[in-house]
Amino acid sequence: MNLATARRLAVLGALLAMGTASADTLIHAGRLIDVDAGRAYNDRTIRIDGDTISAIESGFVTPGDGDTLIDLGESTVMPGLMDMHVHLTSQYSPSSNLDRFVLNEADYAFDAAMYARRTLEAGFTVVRNLGDTYNVTVALRKAIAAGDVPGPLIFTAAKALASTGGHGDPTNGWAAQFGADPGPNEGVVNGVEDARKAVRQRYKDGADWIKITATGGVLSVAKNGQNPQFTMEELEAIVDTAADYGLRVAAHAHGTEGMKRAVLAGVASIEHGTYMTEEVMDLMIERGTYFVPTIMAGNWVAEKAAIDGFFPELVRPKAAAIGPIISNTFTKAYRRGVPIVFGTDTGVSAHGDNAQEFALMVKGGMPPMEAIQSATSVAADFLEIGDTHGRIKEGYQADIIAVPGNPLEDITLMQDVSFVMKGGTIYK
Ligand SMILES: [Zn+2]
Repeated sequence: MNLATARRLAVLGALLAMGTASADTLIHAGRLIDVDAGRAYNDRTIRIDGDTISAIESGFVTPGDGDTLIDLGESTVMPGLMDMHVHLTSQYSPSSNLDRFVLNEADYAFDAAMYARRTLEAGFTVVRNLGDTYNVTVALRKAIAAGDVPGPLIFTAAKALASTGGHGDPTNGWAAQFGADPGPNEGVVNGVEDARKAVRQRYKDGADWIKITATGGVLSVAKNGQNPQFTMEELEAIVDTAADYGLRVAAHAHGTEGMKRAVLAGVASIEHGTYMTEEVMDLMIERGTYFVPTIMAGNWVAEKAAIDGFFPELVRPKAAAIGPIISNTFTKAYRRGVPIVFGTDTGVSAHGDNAQEFALMVKGGMPPMEAIQSATSVAADFLEIGDTHGRIKEGYQADIIAVPGNPLEDITLMQDVSFVMKGGTIYK
């Protein structure tokens, strides 16, 4: 490019910048949920400049020349939702165990891009991905951030960490002829040195979080869904090494002993928490450990356990026993004051159905406003992005959704998200 062309382009760029600076997007919100105040306001205008909320004004402000108006006068408007437990690379089906032998990295990547779009269109603008395959969600996070594919902002743990035969051992149930004995790079840890190596490998791979399977789980092809699967020394090595790299740890846990060890080792969240005792609840309250209930996943596996042949025979009794308990645990933990943040384990159930969790939380005793807060302001603070995300407030990222009617009166309306904006761009 010669100098004259470069100058002309610079002038053109400046003109374009002036053009966009004067044009705002205005949203007329019939009802606006203020998650900090814990209340809704009628007839508000949200002014958006680029990717940022620049003002909240009373009444329906008339747009100026060049402004874009979005009329959500009949809707309830709130911050984009956040799901703290998803698996964007998969969706459980009777063929899931076979899939591990027939799908390649690119297959997982295309599926994940599709599931990410569905998640965003369901109103979820931020997710924490707790365990994937081939580190696909690290690449997906970058592609979404670059604007190459639509999807939520992703915080990912990449491949989860387990011990040999543990819930996240990717070779569980394989025939002996495959001879698999995976190690720390594949997410299987035995002993303190392996634990440190596995965390460092995740850091190198580009993970934002560390996910561990502190006890057995429902869907792995293994007998026990509750046994503790790490020693205290291994857990401490994982949490301490993660802290060196600025990473926090999420612990899948159903059984009490493994859950208690994980809390004592200093994990940031307990996922599922099925057999959480009052002793564990009190430890979590004391240490500020969050509970991610995933009631949906419990209900879903219990429902599917009734179908002959849906699960492998080792999985079926675990699904029938563990599934129905989670909603009772949720009620007890909520009443006792355990910090709760929204999460669904979607990828067990179908992507895009995430918002069904709200109705289950409300049924379990949580008021609708608190359920919405758990998926917005509480989740943003939990992820340490509470200064920029999770609220409709001046200076915040324009992640905004709407549902028809009033979800504070009928929480199932959260499943009817009709408008999705992420970073000032409209996706639905
Ligand atoms: Zn999960």
